[in-house]
Amino acid sequence: MTSARFPLAVLPTPLTRLDRLAAALGRGPLWAKRDDLTGFGVAGNKARALEHLVGDALARGADVLVTGGGPDSNFVAAAALAAAVAGMDCELVVAGGAHRTTNLALAADAGAVLHPLDGPREGIDAAVERLAAGLAREGRRPLAVPRGGSTRVGAAGFAAAAAEVVAQWPEPQPPASVVIPVGSGGSVAGLLAGLAAAGADWPVLGVSVSRPPDEITATVLDLAAATAGAPPRADLLTIVDARGPGFGVASPADRAAAALVRRTEGLLLDDTYGAEAAAVLVEHLGTDPRPALFWLTGGIPSALAHAGEQAHDEEIRERTP
Ligand SMILES: *Cc1c(COP(=O)(O)O)cnc(C)c1O
Repeated sequence: MTSARFPLAVLPTPLTRLDRLAAALGRGPLWAKRDDLTGFGVAGNKARALEHLVGDALARGADVLVTGGGPDSNFVAAAALAAAVAGMDCELVVAGGAHRTTNLALAADAGAVLHPLDGPREGIDAAVERLAAGLAREGRRPLAVPRGGSTRVGAAGFAAAAAEVVAQWPEPQPPASVVIPVGSGGSVAGLLAGLAAAGADWPVLGVSVSRPPDEITATVLDLAAATAGAPPRADLLTIVDARGPGFGVASPADRAAAALVRRTEGLLLDDTYGAEAAAVLVEHLGTDPRPALFWLTGGIPSALAHAGEQAHDEEIRERTP
């Protein structure tokens, strides 16, 4: 689980109590792991993976980081920025056409070369490999990283996060559940590996926003085993299907849960990951008297954009004197 680390994030992130949200739900103590506050590039959990991915790239003497994602990927922006500060070049495969998004604008501004890919996100990893092979033929020293940074090396960053939260946890009893959103699965895989290494038998409730639960559960268990060097306890992992109306689209229940979190705690959740995780927290652990842990993974830039849209659509009422 050890790998070279290139420091990017502000660590440890705080563990804070969500007393007003817990009271509103009528549940026991609720804690939030504040990976929305990792600092680097407002990149949330991606800063943790990139510390290890960039550290590994530098240790291998790579001079160009090659990866990819969809146009709204938080990972592509963060990877471009991390490569820039580490003095590496960055080339990115962007599926679905490189239309203008904040994340792509940030990546381009950081100096990354964008390669649009026609077709679905599933084709990205193969295209990343082809791009890296082409760069190697030109005499470059590329390091190819699959989308989301979900490799053993990237997951090691999140294993370190597990050690952090075990050291911070103040309750006499362990959390009834750790609720965390799941995209490519690297974060939750690292979390499982790190909890096992810390000897913490904490149940993890993963909220899958892009892949079917069976498929992503298998991926996560394999990656956790590779990260930890030993198979994790599969019985501690439950992954629920939160794909709902589609990737990046929050259901009415997701939006209601996000609004509750915003109005009780002032925390901003995005429509792709955070809102879905909040809805699962409310549904599965809403009235549980036992302590629980809600992992905030970031997504603040898109949360801000969507909170504004939502307010305009639904709630701004004119007040006449
Ligand atoms: C990428 C991302 C996730 C999911 O992390 P994975 O490691 O891909 O499962 C969750 N929340 C936010 C805000 C993200 O950007």
